[in-house]
Amino acid sequence: MKKNLFFGGIVCIIILVVIGVRLSERQSQVSQKSVATEQISVVTSFYPLFFFAKEIAQEMALVYNITPSGSEPHEYEPTPQDRASIEKSDLLILNGDGLEAWGDSITRNIDPNRMSIIVAGEGLATGTFVEEGKTIVDPHVWLSPVLAEQMVDKITQGFVQADPSNEIVYRSNAEVLKSKLVDLDNMYMQSLSTCKEKNIVTSHSAFGYLAQAYGLTQVPIAGLSPDAEPSAKEIGDIVTFAKENDVKYIFFESLISPKLAQTIAKEVGAQTLVLNPIEGLTDEEVVSGENYFSVMQNNLINLKTALRCNE
Ligand SMILES: [Zn+2]
Repeated sequence: MKKNLFFGGIVCIIILVVIGVRLSERQSQVSQKSVATEQISVVTSFYPLFFFAKEIAQEMALVYNITPSGSEPHEYEPTPQDRASIEKSDLLILNGDGLEAWGDSITRNIDPNRMSIIVAGEGLATGTFVEEGKTIVDPHVWLSPVLAEQMVDKITQGFVQADPSNEIVYRSNAEVLKSKLVDLDNMYMQSLSTCKEKNIVTSHSAFGYLAQAYGLTQVPIAGLSPDAEPSAKEIGDIVTFAKENDVKYIFFESLISPKLAQTIAKEVGAQTLVLNPIEGLTDEEVVSGENYFSVMQNNLINLKTALRCNE
């Protein structure tokens, strides 16, 4: 009797051990699966970075954009909720070069061991302007498809740092995005190679890198930030320039008032067209499914009209 109890006990222990191993196997499968589908949390400062980050991450990340639709990043001040989202994120993506007035103060207070910070435009910008006696760097790098490709490389590096286990996914999504940017660059190059004119009068000085890439000359109404308003003399100079150079179209933007562009166009006897610096989409643009590529393509259509590239 004692012997049977002894053997029975051993059998019970063996069964329990086997069940235990099975259970722990199943648990580790479950936890591996949940790690693979767990999204990292990413914050971007403004629309083009948001778009690039979403394209690179697809469903691997939850991406929160600081500058809301209808606002432009030069002037935007983050809300307490924005700051809380940054605090909780795994990866923060900024443009840099002074685009986000709040960028420095926020990054100074972040422990770099706790989260990754990518400044996607840093080191790419080469254009400088003197505004109000200060030399400032032109931050509008995303409007050059070639510079945008380099931004995508930097953003991808940020994802790999923040979430190394999914490196292959991020890198392959980034390749798809970069090949679309190569196509966009080729389209611009071909379309703008036959234009009769090369002067673009723009609403603010956002198109310096785009102009440089395709042999155009930008004459901006406002400065590097849309609120850097021109003096009466500067407006007079632009009107004179436009008349002397037979400028037929004055460009305006969707996020800032077209009033100044309309006034200048009236004085010159020119028409107005949109040239969108993609600093943010309006609510209507979001609803109608616009994105970085569709806006860049629409900009190209308007450039071709203004510069008489099809004649
Ligand atoms: Zn701007």
